[in-house]
Amino acid sequence: MFLTVTTTGTPARPATDLGFLLHKHPGKAQAFPTSFGTAHVLYPEAEEQRCTAALLLEVDAVALVRRGKGKGRGGAPDAALAQYVNDRPYAASSLLAVALGNVFSSALRGVCKARPERAAEPLPLRIEVPALPARGGPGLVHRLFEPLGWAVTAEPVPLDTEFPEWGDSRYVRLTLESGALTLAEALRHLYVLLPVLDDAKHYWVAPDEVDKLLRAGEGWLPGHPEQKLITSRYLARRWALTRAATERLELVRLAETDDSAVEEIDNAVPEESGPAEGDERPAPLAVQRREAILGALRESAAARVLDLGCGEGHLVRELLKEPRFTEIAGVDVSVRALAVAARRLGLDRMGERQAARVRLFQGSLAYTDQRLKGYDAAVLSEVIEHLDLPRLPALEYAVFGAARPRTVIVTTPNAEYNVRWETLPAGRVRHRDHRFEWTREEFRAWASAVAARHGYEVGFRPVGPDDPEVGPPTQMAVFTVTTGTEKEAKAA
Ligand code: SAH
Repeated sequence: MFLTVTTTGTPARPATDLGFLLHKHPGKAQAFPTSFGTAHVLYPEAEEQRCTAALLLEVDAVALVRRGKGKGRGGAPDAALAQYVNDRPYAASSLLAVALGNVFSSALRGVCKARPERAAEPLPLRIEVPALPARGGPGLVHRLFEPLGWAVTAEPVPLDTEFPEWGDSRYVRLTLESGALTLAEALRHLYVLLPVLDDAKHYWVAPDEVDKLLRAGEGWLPGHPEQKLITSRYLARRWALTRAATERLELVRLAETDDSAVEEIDNAVPEESGPAEGDERPAPLAVQRREAILGALRESAAARVLDLGCGEGHLVRELLKEPRFTEIAGVDVSVRALAVAARRLGLDRMGERQAARVRLFQGSLAYTDQRLKGYDAAVLSEVIEHLDLPRLPALEYAVFGAARPRTVIVTTPNAEYNVRWETLPAGRVRHRDHRFEWTREEFRAWASAVAARHGYEVGFRPVGPDDPEVGPPTQMAVFTVTTGTEKEAKAA
């Protein structure tokens, strides 16, 4: 029963840093006793360019049965033989997840004193699990891992290679690849999803399993399209625990997303506190921003437009006024914001023709989402700064890698301009939910790298008065696709 984690590196960022991140030296093999056998950590390869760590679990079937006596699985008399002759020693399962939690507990929490900066950043990862019991088949494996930013291969393992007519076993050979995740995120995905796919927990599910699930699921489980199935299976279908977990996940989601109640400072107060230009009162910045976005959309000749992080639907309303935009979809993670949007747009009073042009739906941009495919253009207006920096690569992949509209328009505050807001204390961001605000250089660097990675060209435009010293209050990037598919983009 084993899995391997591989990363690649460069002289500046050697792959062998994996040893620091896992808190296990690449130079030696180590063994850790667990209550059901021995866990070994070893490195089949450890070079600057490529490093692989393997976690191998040697299960002691007898210890496992003794330990399980009188608890859960141990009970049924006809299971006597099955207790000793079963797949536990060979297949990755909940046992492997438990070993992962024990042996890599610091890595799972993202703690790394020696290389803190590397623990916080996404790295190229390839994870292989040669024999993964997958109840629900390869389809479910895809549905569980893909929304988290993994490229998934799940090949069914035949029951017996000599007797192909026996068909496939319930095992798959799993390979996961991503460049968008930190090691801690990756390990937490495995820690939860291996037992979910196994669906036969070897130990009694105690109430503290809910805490474990929420801790390991932080940042990805709330809002996962299969959240229900994951929660229920992880908690061994114990209804009361599942309900407790679901309620707590919902609270987390609401706390994370209920920011639309506070208007952004630059949406709310620009007329008073923005720099006056002569006697004319400039249009509020939010209006100027929508004008700039509409201008770029018209130039791109887009007809089907996605407003990602649409909030309360101000841009959607402007889009609806122009017949050239034949299909408009507003997406937001906040149900509350969407409800306000639906009411403000008067969706329920709209004529049929008009209503057919617009759709609002809940979704998180931190996940790949099939519903975002097939649009001409996507707008991210004042949204990226609401995501934690480590989640940004996931958004990048969901929009530029998977959804891949021809045009993408991104706006975000220009941090340099903040000194011009009279009501903003020095060093503060414009909105309490902003996780970061970038200078022009930082935004350009990010946008250019995104464009290069996904086969887009990008141009930059100021929005609002372009201050000679600090630039405009809002910065806008317009991305245009140069290559058709992601594969072509990679090849280019
Ligand atoms: N686009 C609007 C709203 C910007 S406020 C405008 O320009 O005025 C940011 C919006 O992004 C909020 O409505 C928030 O709910 C949404 N948001 C934040 N994180 C998100 C995520 N991960 N997925 C989808 N929407 C998100």
